Amino acid sequence: MPIRTSFAAAVGQTPLLRLRHASEATGCEILAKAEFLNPGGSVKDRTALGLLDDAERRGLVRPGCVLVEGTAGNTGIGLALLGASRGHRTLIVMPETQSREKIDALRVTGAEVRLVPAAPFKDPGHYVHVARALAGKMNEQEPGSAWFANQFDNTANRDWHEAHTGPEIWEQTGGKVDGFVCAAGTGGTLAGVGRALKARRPDIRIALADPGGSALAAFVNTGELAAEGTSISEGIGSSRITANFADAPVDLAWTIPDAESVPVLHDLLQREGYCVGGSSGVNVAGALRLARELGPGHTIVTVLCDGGMRYQAKLFNPSFLRGKGIPVPEWLDRAFP
Ligand code: PMP
Repeated sequence: MPIRTSFAAAVGQTPLLRLRHASEATGCEILAKAEFLNPGGSVKDRTALGLLDDAERRGLVRPGCVLVEGTAGNTGIGLALLGASRGHRTLIVMPETQSREKIDALRVTGAEVRLVPAAPFKDPGHYVHVARALAGKMNEQEPGSAWFANQFDNTANRDWHEAHTGPEIWEQTGGKVDGFVCAAGTGGTLAGVGRALKARRPDIRIALADPGGSALAAFVNTGELAAEGTSISEGIGSSRITANFADAPVDLAWTIPDAESVPVLHDLLQREGYCVGGSSGVNVAGALRLARELGPGHTIVTVLCDGGMRYQAKLFNPSFLRGKGIPVPEWLDRAFP
């Protein structure tokens, strides 16, 4: 492995892990990209790099320019760390409902953090609109002083996954991949990887694993945006079709309840030793569903988006889980009596 000479160079080329228990249970090869091993700890380092490189190429980000973004946290962490490595300050707007650990991690990066109440997208107080408005105000006062990254609707996000994440999966599997499944927040991962794999193998199955409270699975299945339930997972699900999601080549979609995905993520820790976040539980639960749909003998790839320690007080907290009606495994009860 070559020496990586910068934060940017350390992003991507993550290991593809065989999930032994999931593979044995289904008779498929269930493989997962270890995105928690990116330098900022999540798949969103890839997004941050794709967006910033594109903006720099277009001359939108000059030295001293402040990077501004609305984020559930991980994109902010990636952008702030990447920005630090290139001499940029970062201003992040995020909903106050996100995990305390992510908010603290973001503060540690040196980013300026503005927490806003959770609001629907049509509300001007939604974190994305607040971030866009702050960047606009800074540019009014001093043109070129701020850049709004716009991860949801800037398709440089999807393009980076199409040019890098998808081809990595193709090469690591030697082209032996029958299905790819993941959740969508911006949709950048799903659309980018989906497009890259479909271009190489048109009959591959691309599936969306959607959390409760998101309207995307219903949209794929019926053409109508409709949401039911809620989820404790963060960074995934959407009430609208973002520009990045818009041309994701999705063949199948399911809504995966927390009662299904959280036990999967607890199992990943106890049986395989991988401590991952809520979206990774949804993704692996989706991989199990796709394996059952395709039948034994297939190879299915998914994504472990970030690490579980970013959500310790929720995902590994018996009283929090019980309050949400999610089963608490015995080992976790014993760990926190
Ligand atoms: N998992 C986590 C933990 C995330 O933070 C995000 C992004 N918000 C995703 C999954 C979804 O990735 P994407 O934005 O590429 O759809």
